[in-house]
Amino acid sequence: MKAARFDYVRAVDAADAVRCLGAGGPQTKIIAGGQSLGPMLNLRLARPDKLVDIRRAADLAAVAATADAVVYGAGITHAAFEDRLVPDATPGWLAPIARGIAYRAVRNKGTIGGSVVHADPAADWPTVLLALGAEALTLGPAGPRAAPLADFLVGPFQVALAFDHLLTGLRLPKRGPHARWGYWKFCRKTGEFAKAAAAVLHDPDRGETRAVIGAVERTPILVPDAAELLADPRAAADIVARLAPERAPAAQRLHAEALERAARLALAPQEIAA
Ligand SMILES: Cc1cc2nc3c(=O)[nH]c(=O)nc-3n(C[C@H](O)[C@H](O)[C@H](O)COP(=O)(O)OP(=O)(O)OC[C@H]3O[C@@H](n4cnc5c(N)ncnc54)[C@H](O)[C@@H]3O)c2cc1C
Repeated sequence: MKAARFDYVRAVDAADAVRCLGAGGPQTKIIAGGQSLGPMLNLRLARPDKLVDIRRAADLAAVAATADAVVYGAGITHAAFEDRLVPDATPGWLAPIARGIAYRAVRNKGTIGGSVVHADPAADWPTVLLALGAEALTLGPAGPRAAPLADFLVGPFQVALAFDHLLTGLRLPKRGPHARWGYWKFCRKTGEFAKAAAAVLHDPDRGETRAVIGAVERTPILVPDAAELLADPRAAADIVARLAPERAPAAQRLHAEALERAARLALAPQEIAA
């Protein structure tokens, strides 16, 4: 099948994209890497009147570092993380995450912002970024805004973004050398969407312990008391049963296994990536 007809416009920067969205109305959509939207267009699961292409908007592919955070432009590709072309707010954790997404052709075009806005429950970045305490930066006709990612992700394939607003970037707190991290993804073949995923962060310098259960067919779940998990990773089974009771028993076992493994990784001595 081929996509239904649509108009196409190329935005030169974020402000231009917002203007184009406002002028086009609710049936206008952003296209970034096209790796999720492209198939949806071809299957006619999405039928926008107009696409606003942000691939040439240089400001959306930029990175800005402050003393305690890094802001990643929404248009940065998975491959740029994989190849370490952008600074890492963590001690080297982002490149292996990116490398686990699909295969290289997808990673060359797919973007971190597209992944977050698409909000596929089985995707890697939403789970990872939620565990890292990311903020979603958006731009609309009234100016820029920032919101915790937990508030931005509102449901499966659903984010808190009005039709004339754009995700411009993601702000990640910097994690120092004492911070510990574990990410575990169960998938049938390397690079596939997760059947179960979990991420665990322990950052003693910031006094933060965060754990997220992903690929649960809804928004990734932020575990309310992650310290309990780090004290004893075997608590994973009870935590999953408590927080995702709707999952079938076999799925719960897989989520619990992913969460326990992520916690054990976060407790183990860490390799610092070169
Ligand atoms: C074969 C295959 C395997 C894959 N495997 C994985 C996997 O294992 N793990 C994983 O996480 N992902 C996987 N993906 C998805 C991939 O990561 C996509 O790159 C990602 O989901 C979408 O990014 P994109 O830049 O291509 O966005 P697009 O497809 O261009 O857009 C996706 C959606 O986001 C909106 N959008 C994009 N950018 C913005 C923005 N800045 N502001 C507002 N709205 C925006 C679009 O309007 C659209 O609704 C896979 C994809 C394919 C094709």
